Amino acid sequence: MTATRTLGARPVIAIAGLGIETSTFSPARTEAQAFHPSRGREVLDRYPFLRPREPLREAADWHGALVGKSLPGGTVTATAWRDLTHELIQRLTALPPVDGLWYDVHGAMTVEGVDDAETVLLARIRETLGSHVIVSTSMDLHGNVSRELVRHSDLLTCYRMAPHEDHMETKERAARNLVDLVVSGAPRPVKAWVPVPVLLAGEQTSTRIEPAKGLYAAIDEVEAMDGVTDASIWVGYAWADEPRSRAAVVVTGQDQQVVAAGAEMLARRFWAVRKDFAFVAPTGTLDELLDEALSVGSRPYFISDTGDNPTAGGAGDVTWGLTRLLARPEFTSPDGPAIIYASLPGPAAVEIAVAAGVGATITVEVGADVDDRHAGPVTLTGQVHAVRHGDRDAVTEVVVRVGNVYVIVTKLRKAYHYEHDFTELSLNPRDVDVVIIKIGYLEPELYDMAAGWKMALTPGGVNQDLVSLGHQRIRRPMFPFDQDMADPNLTARIVPSSNEPPLTGCDE
Ligand SMILES: [Zn+2]
Repeated sequence: MTATRTLGARPVIAIAGLGIETSTFSPARTEAQAFHPSRGREVLDRYPFLRPREPLREAADWHGALVGKSLPGGTVTATAWRDLTHELIQRLTALPPVDGLWYDVHGAMTVEGVDDAETVLLARIRETLGSHVIVSTSMDLHGNVSRELVRHSDLLTCYRMAPHEDHMETKERAARNLVDLVVSGAPRPVKAWVPVPVLLAGEQTSTRIEPAKGLYAAIDEVEAMDGVTDASIWVGYAWADEPRSRAAVVVTGQDQQVVAAGAEMLARRFWAVRKDFAFVAPTGTLDELLDEALSVGSRPYFISDTGDNPTAGGAGDVTWGLTRLLARPEFTSPDGPAIIYASLPGPAAVEIAVAAGVGATITVEVGADVDDRHAGPVTLTGQVHAVRHGDRDAVTEVVVRVGNVYVIVTKLRKAYHYEHDFTELSLNPRDVDVVIIKIGYLEPELYDMAAGWKMALTPGGVNQDLVSLGHQRIRRPMFPFDQDMADPNLTARIVPSSNEPPLTGCDE
């Protein structure tokens, strides 16, 4: 199905990809429906810059195949992987011959029995579409970049901000660079890849603060060089115990010397500041932070319950934090400090609360269905404060008030990032003393609202104490696992294209 594009005709571009971040340290498993796949024309609706009459939409003939994006979670099951990838490939096969593919992924998906899953899928896509097709891959900066992923891509980019305020801008850049390249008929870009043996938590690498702020700012310098198309830095994803897990730099463009020099500059800069990365907010134990929240007196005081953060891959139903909270009598008194606890999946408890209705008093058991390694189910006796149906992720949410603690219980996992996530449940986070959320760094809306914020280092599938997790399969030496390792080889590897033979004997 090799196509030769008629000069001047609009290029035909397909869109496909599966995006998720999965912790191999979580006992949770992810099934196909968690990806909420968009198919065919629906795929275009995901991207505002591809709406009818937008310049980029008009610049090409776009065809959605299948794009799925899931909340972070546990390893994807072999069945989910088989079903989703089979359908994705079938849909690509049914398209007219394409000139380009935009591969929209996250880059931290682990699958039962499959290593480097995004690359395995892209290799299958290449087999289906042909090696002549130009591929632009867009990722989260918390994805992992193997040499083979670079080989199968012609352009590769990722977010430049954490929190990812530039997520749509990044996708648009990936799509626009693809269209520009196909239309120009220019040679395939040179790709310089530098793996950086550093593996850090997202909560240590926010671009709001140094050293990530300055490191990511250096991307602009490289991108401004003549002969560079795109420059990207991946922090990587630390909770996947796979050989590909580490930081990386990729620079693409037409001038090999400039591209290589730019990539090496960014990689050396990353390595030089590796010891300066600190947690984005002060940390402490949950008990220390609760004491502090009550003594400072400014409200609302936010505490991140980080070890079970569902947006990083935690199961979400670890009860350790809530158990500690409810064990302290000052919080379970009706005139104690007001606290919101978000959140815990507990489908059976939700059903009971819905049946009882708002205002009823219930006793339910919640949590520890999936991850019971740190504490067992917790018993809540309290009043049903709110019931809400129809959420995309949670499906149904209820709030159970125990003393003056408002516990959000969901049917399925949900991340609480916005003020409306609370106000829709008749909760006003601005009005309470403490808000505890299973999250890492606070999303902008909550960050702006917080009178104080610290991160509690708590147990769970995304425990922030990385070195204690017991990685077996990552490459060593690796910082911070090997604190005193020698300086690594940070020369740029010029990665051949997918239509050239792969390097043999390469153990990278
Ligand atoms: Zn991310």
